[in-house]
Amino acid sequence: MTKPVAGCDVVVSFDFDAEEVWIGEDPGNAGRPGTLSQGTYGAKVAVPAVLELLRRLDITATFFVPGRVAERHPARVEEILAGGHEVAHHGYTHTSPTRLAPAEEEEELVRGAQILSALGADVVGYRSPSWDFSPVTLDLLVKHGFGYSSNLMDDIRPYRHATHDIVEVPVHWTLDDAAHFWFDIASWTKSIRTSAEVRALWEEEFAGYSAMNGLYVLTLHPQVIGRPGRLRMLEAFLTWLRDQDGSRFVTARQAAEGCA
Ligand SMILES: [Zn+2]
Repeated sequence: MTKPVAGCDVVVSFDFDAEEVWIGEDPGNAGRPGTLSQGTYGAKVAVPAVLELLRRLDITATFFVPGRVAERHPARVEEILAGGHEVAHHGYTHTSPTRLAPAEEEEELVRGAQILSALGADVVGYRSPSWDFSPVTLDLLVKHGFGYSSNLMDDIRPYRHATHDIVEVPVHWTLDDAAHFWFDIASWTKSIRTSAEVRALWEEEFAGYSAMNGLYVLTLHPQVIGRPGRLRMLEAFLTWLRDQDGSRFVTARQAAEGCA
């Protein structure tokens, strides 16, 4: 008999970018309703569907939310919180810290945190809008009391940064839906993969993470994974993950705290 795959800890994280990711890509998109509507779909259709799916499966997730998305869709953030999920920081605008002056970056960090806190979130985590840092990002995160960052790809387990008192919860493109499904009319450089192909890749990675005792961090975007057919794949895949012996769903915050 074939031994079943032993599970490992799983973080289901969503970057709730809505319209801001398109405006961050090109400020001119703010005047392009068709382009922005891709992000609006995330708030209007996908987040409610994802919350219902998570409720059915009894999974607690982590949602990284830009401040401006929370301003535009406050009821959605409240629904995420009401579902018992973690809400964490994802910038104010969806702008990479590498493109901000230190003072601007600090202003975005403070403003984003204030908006999420005002909606009832206890914000301890930060994922930058680009999975990248400026030279001062870690300093600012420590200064403003963040407990963890979820940005780097140099490990498969959470670890404490050597230079700063903050935990890293590592990510990777293989486990990011956007790498497989993102389509941008401005470039046409990426093809849209089938859900079956992505699920096969994610199962393969899960077996590897389990064998190496890693922390399996899925990074999903409501506007990307929340298309109708992909939602069906997500539900089937999360059900499969849940049924693997020894697998356990944790929030990014719980994973970071476990590394203390
Ligand atoms: Zn994002």
